[in-house]
Amino acid sequence: MNNRNETYDVAVVGGGPGGYSAAIRAAQAGKKVILFEQEKLGGVCLNVGCIPTKYLLEKAALVDRIARDTQNNIFREAGLFSWKKIQSGKDTAVKKLVSGVEGIVAGHKIKIVKGHAKVNRAGTVEGPNGEEFLADSIILATGSRPVMPPIPGADNPNVLDSSGALMQGNIPRSLVIIGGGVIGLEFASIYGAMGSEVTVLEMLPALLPNEDSDLSLALRQAMEKRGIHIHIGVRVEEITPDGDGCTVRYGTNDKQKTITADKILAAVGRKPNLEGIDVSALGLKLDGKGYIAANKRQETSVPGIYAAGDVTGGWQLAHAAYAEADTAVANCTGGSVETSYETIPRCIYSLPQLASVGAAEQQLKEKNIGYKKGVVPYMSNGKAIVSEEPEGFVKILCAEKTGEVLGVHMMGSHATELLSPALVAMNMHATVETLAGMIFPHPTLSELFKEAAMACMDRALHSKPSR
Ligand code: NAD
Repeated sequence: MNNRNETYDVAVVGGGPGGYSAAIRAAQAGKKVILFEQEKLGGVCLNVGCIPTKYLLEKAALVDRIARDTQNNIFREAGLFSWKKIQSGKDTAVKKLVSGVEGIVAGHKIKIVKGHAKVNRAGTVEGPNGEEFLADSIILATGSRPVMPPIPGADNPNVLDSSGALMQGNIPRSLVIIGGGVIGLEFASIYGAMGSEVTVLEMLPALLPNEDSDLSLALRQAMEKRGIHIHIGVRVEEITPDGDGCTVRYGTNDKQKTITADKILAAVGRKPNLEGIDVSALGLKLDGKGYIAANKRQETSVPGIYAAGDVTGGWQLAHAAYAEADTAVANCTGGSVETSYETIPRCIYSLPQLASVGAAEQQLKEKNIGYKKGVVPYMSNGKAIVSEEPEGFVKILCAEKTGEVLGVHMMGSHATELLSPALVAMNMHATVETLAGMIFPHPTLSELFKEAAMACMDRALHSKPSR
């Protein structure tokens, strides 16, 4: 079918956070918009990523909390829970959010084409039935999917990717996780709290090497305290079938070990979804890792084609995709905008949570930037004590001379929510002096942020000097 009459201002390929938000933004700018999605709106984030994992992590945190209260004799018996109910609650939350996005997209009069779209030349998108839709600008937001490691035996049915790990009908008795990155640590927290014997095998010498080293070490210790086994600096070499499970062989160059588990989760990174995008016919440049190369204006090497979200590599976070979609739409509707990642928040919903923004201490040292730091423990905070959540700390790094906040790193209860005042401060180029002069509500965990600002000036009220 050749439907050359259908012309649009903006065509968006992919309906995840990058794609659906680009479509909505373009419609809000008064443009005629078409959106192609082969599965469900919301993409990985809503369907098999952020949202369902966070549902499971909320319940895992509850189970973890009940277990601690039981150990402390506050509750008499450990809570029994229904994994089946938890799974169906997760599905309900996902459905609610996906239908919410569908309603919003429809409300903006965006044409949605369900099915696999192809892009072979600038200005045209081919629909699932071969129909052609013309568009002045195309935004590619096709996302990414888990990569399976090139390890012999990784094709065993007991080796799961993150989507498979979300949909387990039963809690595995034992789980080996290959990769101590964000996905690996979140699933370790879920299944560890639910009762699995969890082992994380990480190739690098530290978990989360790009995070502040105090933070990554503290998280490792906190997870080990919860019974999760973590081995760093080890490489998985082979997976072999073993009864109903698998044996994993891992080690360093000189030492080889094995571990057997019911299930194996491969969480070693993701790869771009490029099927349907004819890279060579378009002359589309890819980066060194095979992702679509896009500049800070989200322009690709092909005029009129923009890219946003995971398919461009980079941060691979839903909030990065939202920002990149905003940039792409602004630039294809006459604006001139660049995406800035300087204050991009990083949140890991592990148990305990980890959240950060800006420079890590080791990065300031490497760059010879003069800094001061303030570190305050959750234990010093009244709300943390009454909530019986004393684990963790908040660390602020500020410029030695001006006191401007350069980085904020935290681990502990609600850390991912606590990060937002830090983001506001950094975006406003606030100094620790300014933060220390503000009145924060008492008793709240947010006081930790003010307290850490005061600690940078050796004026912490409720904790000992950190230096
Ligand atoms: P990742 O790159 O963050 O971590 C993968 C880890 O696997 C690395 O540390 C790597 O060293 C290790 N690894 C690779 N091969 C190995 C091997 N053979 N043996 C042992 N270790 C090995 O990838 P991910 O955790 O899969 O996450 C993918 C993307 O999704 C990331 O960009 C992440 O930020 C994003 N994500 C973010 C969130 C969040 O923000 N809360 C949640 C989920 C996913």
